[in-house]
Amino acid sequence: MLKLVLKKGKEKKVKHFYPWVFRDELERVEGEGLVGELYAHDGSFLGVGTYSPVSRIAFRVFTHERRPLDEAYFKETLERTAFLREGIPSDAYRVLYSESDQTPGFIVDRYADGLVLQVRTLGAEKLKPELLKALVERFRPAFVYERSDFVGRKDEGLEPFKGLLWGELKNPVLIREHEFTFLVDVERGLKTGFYLDQRENRLYASSLVKEGSRVLDLFCYTGGFSVYCAKRGARVTGVDLNERALELARENARINGVEVEFVKANAFEYLEQDRSSYDLIIADPPAIAKARKEKESLKWAVWKLAYHAFPRLRRGGRLFICVCSYQLSADELARQVRLAATDRGRKVVLKELRLQPYDHPYLPTFPESLYLKCGDFILV
Ligand code: SAH
Repeated sequence: MLKLVLKKGKEKKVKHFYPWVFRDELERVEGEGLVGELYAHDGSFLGVGTYSPVSRIAFRVFTHERRPLDEAYFKETLERTAFLREGIPSDAYRVLYSESDQTPGFIVDRYADGLVLQVRTLGAEKLKPELLKALVERFRPAFVYERSDFVGRKDEGLEPFKGLLWGELKNPVLIREHEFTFLVDVERGLKTGFYLDQRENRLYASSLVKEGSRVLDLFCYTGGFSVYCAKRGARVTGVDLNERALELARENARINGVEVEFVKANAFEYLEQDRSSYDLIIADPPAIAKARKEKESLKWAVWKLAYHAFPRLRRGGRLFICVCSYQLSADELARQVRLAATDRGRKVVLKELRLQPYDHPYLPTFPESLYLKCGDFILV
């Protein structure tokens, strides 16, 4: 049995539901394995979780109860966290969000009658068969597909992997979200296929437009924001670099009965060269700051997008701009937009700050679980 003991005084944050233990907080590691028990320096029991021999995050707490992390644990966890997914106006949502749902290293997304799983740590890899049994039992899914093909797995000494774990997959999968229908490529799409975390923000952004509004959707991916806005009567241009995503975006516009102009271009260059004016510019750039050292480039990207968006906005126009990284706080997002406005000699009002939806739970006891922040800025 693996047993880890913390240095003196390091037990406090674990008791207060912070799930990570860093390597330099460990006094000693006894025994072998990837799943084990965590103890305070005085020998009192703290929790059960997974150990990583290589990562900076040495231990992740699953539960403060002394119990095995088996199929029953995952079944109970799925039941206990289900209420956070009640009333979601979609058949696609996040079923488990890693530490936020007491399943560190696991992400599970539901797409209509199927599930997509992502395994992010070595310890989670070990527990995967138990989770899979629980998922099949609870959801009776048509398929369970694994999308663990991201570079970050290397930090845990894991190779990228993707493949079918259960059932039969007919790709792309058709999902319903609010009154819309979207095709999701779970085999080759980004993340697990769709940006489920923007569900409520797509509805919000589309509430800002009316018949005849002009909308620019930068980093449009498979057309989520574009389709919502077009349905409200806006004339929308969507821009993305990824041709495969644009093919699906065109298909998504068609099946929702709307027309959108989709352009393959670098969003930064497109915006700089564009001479049209808009009522709403949406900018949802990719998560370029996974690590602290990349934070500066994300800050710069936000400034640059805002700086070039302002001259394209009519008076009273809106910039809906998102950052998808723990590294950049809401304050810093607002600061970058304010700096760009000042550089243009303009003033902005932050009308609304929006975060990830509650099927991607943000635990204040675990600040790292908050990653998505979008600001609705009005040019005054
Ligand atoms: N708003 C989308 C998600 C955006 S994800 C939604 O709601 O579904 C980020 C997108 O940015 C990806 O589709 C990626 O292909 C695209 N991308 C990355 N760098 C880009 C660039 N420089 N110019 C245009 N698109 C880019």
